[in-house]
Amino acid sequence: MIGTTLRRGLRKRCPHCGQGRLFTGWRQLEGCTVCGLVFARNPGDTWAFTIMGDRLPIGAMIVVIYFGVVRSHRVLGLILLVVLAALVILTAPNRWGAGIALHYLSRVYWPDPADSIPPPPVTRPR
Ligand SMILES: [Zn+2]
Repeated sequence: MIGTTLRRGLRKRCPHCGQGRLFTGWRQLEGCTVCGLVFARNPGDTWAFTIMGDRLPIGAMIVVIYFGVVRSHRVLGLILLVVLAALVILTAPNRWGAGIALHYLSRVYWPDPADSIPPPPVTRPR
């Protein structure tokens, strides 16, 4: 369940049904067009997950590369930083998707009566 949900997020699909898209281009959609799940009920609902899954690892990687490599192997270290920056930008929607998936899991495990998660989607064979 957790693995499937996270994989859907990483593939930029709705964590609930796995069908709908999370983004159009670089913009996050409000909700799923297939099952009707609202991705983030309040703006900022997913920020904690974005910071945990996004900002902290990136910051840690920059620190490790900077202090571990740039100081001893300047050129190699700078190349690594550029590669990291490219990866960070290219995978941004996937990491945001994972953040949305984590947020969704927290709503499933600690349900809020005011929160309406759509009924489980019919699983269709692919
Ligand atoms: Zn959906």
